[in-house]
Amino acid sequence: MRIAWRTDTGRVREGNEDCVLTDSTLGLLMVADGMGGQKAGEVASRLAVDTVHAALLASPVEAAGDEAAIRTRLESALQAANAEIWQKATSPEWKGMGTTLVLALKVGDVMQIAHVGDSRAYLLRARSLRQLTRDHSLVAEMVEAGELSARDARRHRLRNILTRSLGTEAAVEASFQSLAWGAGDRLLLCSDGLTGMLTDRQIEAILVKRSADLERACEELVKAANAEGGKDNITVILAGED
Ligand code: CA
Repeated sequence: MRIAWRTDTGRVREGNEDCVLTDSTLGLLMVADGMGGQKAGEVASRLAVDTVHAALLASPVEAAGDEAAIRTRLESALQAANAEIWQKATSPEWKGMGTTLVLALKVGDVMQIAHVGDSRAYLLRARSLRQLTRDHSLVAEMVEAGELSARDARRHRLRNILTRSLGTEAAVEASFQSLAWGAGDRLLLCSDGLTGMLTDRQIEAILVKRSADLERACEELVKAANAEGGKDNITVILAGED
């Protein structure tokens, strides 16, 4: 599996609260988008990816066995990350911090995906882009209820309100899915600094055009999001199988 990634502060924010972690040995990819103001967002997103990574290193998923067992490992890694952030947020300095997390873990020829919040996973297959994750956000719920169009959701004043995040409650409920992973597939993990600036069609066009060059694709996604305003930190990971 080939992996490329890029993270960018964007054109408005002063710091970058997004965090990336990739481990090609484990087949692990993660994007976290922290929140909480000051340095808290950066601390939360870093803590999330490092805790999940450490948990998966300590207890290799390859050996877990069937899909249910793998999911249990991922679940406990995410709960560990939640507990770390929740615990740290008890100090006044870090009060209210939290983070999104989207992760992909390749086990054999299956891609396991888990997420909390509005950082997303997409699959490009046969030149067509499909959003795999459903945002844990207020506007996503409104879109699902038919109260809002996907187009209006991107500009809605409440678009940043998450219904689930890591570290903001004593326990977290992540969403899980898996997909058969094969030659030609491209997986995109990203923060909302990408999807808030670009439509799925714009993202698809770049991925189709640059499907052979993942580094270049990452670079062009970030560039395009900045060209549309770059109002938030922009993070992308691309994985591809030849
Ligand atoms: Ca963000």
